[in-house]
Amino acid sequence: MMLGNKQQSCAACGQNLDEVPLAPMLHDEVWRQFAKPHDTLCAKCFLERAVERRIGLRDLRPCPFNLYGVPSWYDLYHAEAAPLPSNIDAWRSAAASLAWIEKLAPEVSPSHLSHLL
Ligand SMILES: [Zn+2]
Repeated sequence: MMLGNKQQSCAACGQNLDEVPLAPMLHDEVWRQFAKPHDTLCAKCFLERAVERRIGLRDLRPCPFNLYGVPSWYDLYHAEAAPLPSNIDAWRSAAASLAWIEKLAPEVSPSHLSHLL
C-alpha cells in the first residue's frame, strides 16, 4: 500500500478497500515484487502473492499503519521469541506516532503497543 493513494479497490481482485483489510506497507523495493508502485492490494491478495516470497519483518516499513490493529502486521511478522528488529528505534517512533494518533480517536486502545513504547 502506498500512502497518499486514492485507489478505492484492490488492484488484483477489485474488492472495495473500505470493506477488506489492506496489505501491509512494505519498503518500495519489496513492494515492487508484489505490485506496481501505486497499486493497492487487499490483505488476502497480498498474502496469496506472499506465499511465493519470503516476507519478513525487515520488509515492512516501520510506520503506524503496520502497528495498527490486533494483530497488527508487526505482530504477524514478529515472532514471539525473535530478537527485536535492528530498526527497533524506527518501530518505536512509529508506535509513538500511532499512540498520538489514537489519542485523537480514544475508542482505539493503544495498549497493544506497550511492548514497543
Ligand atoms: Zn484483493
